[in-house]
Amino acid sequence: MTDYQQIKAELEGIAIEDNPAMVLRKSRDFYWYSPILKAQLEHVTGDLIVSPENEDELIKVLKVAFKHDAPVTARGGGTGNYGQSMPLSGGIVLDMTKMNRIKLIEPGRVIAEPGIICAELDRQTKAHSGQELRFHPSTTGQATLGGFIAGGSGGVGSVHWGGLRDLGNVLRLRIVTLEAEPRVMELTSLDLLKVSHAYGTNGIITEVEMPLAPAYEWVDVIVGHDSFMDAVRFSDHLASSTGILTKEIAPIAAPVPYNYFTRLKPFLEEGESISVVMVAPHSIEPFKALVEVHGGTIRYRSDTAENTKGVPRAYELGWNHTTLRAMKMEPDNFTYLQVQYPSPGHVAKVQEMCAIFGDEVIGHLEFLRFDGAIQCSGLPLVRYTTPERLEEIIRIHEENGCPVFNPHRYTLEEGGMKQTDERQLEFKKETDPKGLLNPGKMIAWDDPEFDFKAGKNYLFKGITAVTGE
Ligand code: FAD
Repeated sequence: MTDYQQIKAELEGIAIEDNPAMVLRKSRDFYWYSPILKAQLEHVTGDLIVSPENEDELIKVLKVAFKHDAPVTARGGGTGNYGQSMPLSGGIVLDMTKMNRIKLIEPGRVIAEPGIICAELDRQTKAHSGQELRFHPSTTGQATLGGFIAGGSGGVGSVHWGGLRDLGNVLRLRIVTLEAEPRVMELTSLDLLKVSHAYGTNGIITEVEMPLAPAYEWVDVIVGHDSFMDAVRFSDHLASSTGILTKEIAPIAAPVPYNYFTRLKPFLEEGESISVVMVAPHSIEPFKALVEVHGGTIRYRSDTAENTKGVPRAYELGWNHTTLRAMKMEPDNFTYLQVQYPSPGHVAKVQEMCAIFGDEVIGHLEFLRFDGAIQCSGLPLVRYTTPERLEEIIRIHEENGCPVFNPHRYTLEEGGMKQTDERQLEFKKETDPKGLLNPGKMIAWDDPEFDFKAGKNYLFKGITAVTGE
């Protein structure tokens, strides 16, 4: 039995919380988006919240955890979707939000601690030198930079820059291992693949170096269309119009916008599907021309609307905020999927899936650059009935050439976003020999029989798959 009172005593001087209600609250994330994970993970809670203020304190925490065999699960803003930051084996919930300083801003890059909130980072880089992150999660107001890298994939800006999986979109990570004498490691280029989207299973990120892009006063625009496929074709054309600078392009099918985007209702038409767009101010005129070509109607523009009070920013309508808005109003009726529609046939694939599922799977796409080409990922809303039907919907997508990154699984491999290979496993053995970092999330660690070469499609490929060596 791990002696948490003893751990508390040995960590004197570092902020600790063990009030069970508080610990339970900080042991949750947005796992409840999935009815499957909701049932599986509802009971999960940690034993202590420990909040280091700097790397020295963090090293002390990890050293003590190693000595007492205490599991350690890092936590940023707790906005992850698949139980990523939930401590399956209890133990220490490592709250990283006090490590939130910016260390350096230069043209094209920023160095910061991992606990900084993404929107705050953008605020400071913009004020300093008119720069911002290339892309951020739609949870930018709550999510930390470290949590985004360890748990996210891409987001607002990915239509231009691609995602976290792309080389160059993270420049350097500094991590601390969980050993008798924790070591500090600096990772760059291909080595970053070991730690990005690894749920903090192989080191705690203590410093992040990110590339920056020029910041703009992005204009939020909602375009109304007669049908979802009209919205998709317009969005596809816009995404591949490289002269028009956009940061977000998300077609969303009726009835979602009118029924669930309550603050926008006065601007919207019932029955219309929409495209949610963020456009750079200098691109507004060519953008308007493209809307006209496609017969769309601009329903809302943040730069000309008489009253924007209470209207959410465009990015808080897209990504998993679309899901959130529907689930808030009808919690028991909806869940969602994460679908890839490979280019160049992505628009046709979307149409095929819409024809198969009709209103049971309601379209929501995010356009993005994937391996250099424009394609779309789907976060469709699913009218949930049973686990069996959900599995069937996933199977039908995959049989039709649309891979699903299953958001109803809490392990790295089953979610399909992260490939573990022999090198990933070796790195885990090196950085976390006792398997105490976020236990239960990496099947390859728990199951020696795990088949690395099962041929599954992964978003974050292993180093071996990327280099072919
Ligand atoms: P947490 O949830 O706290 O942690 C995520 C993972 O990272 C956990 O496994 C945790 O253990 C690990 N971790 C945290 N800090 C560290 C650290 N310092 N070192 C090592 N491991 C660490 N995701 C996207 O990619 N794009 C989106 O646009 C997006 N939109 C979303 C919208 C909504 C409404 C919701 C609920 C989720 C969304 N997500 C999105 C998922 C999630 O918000 C993001 O991935 C977010 O960036 C996670 O940051 P966080 O600080 O909340 O991380």
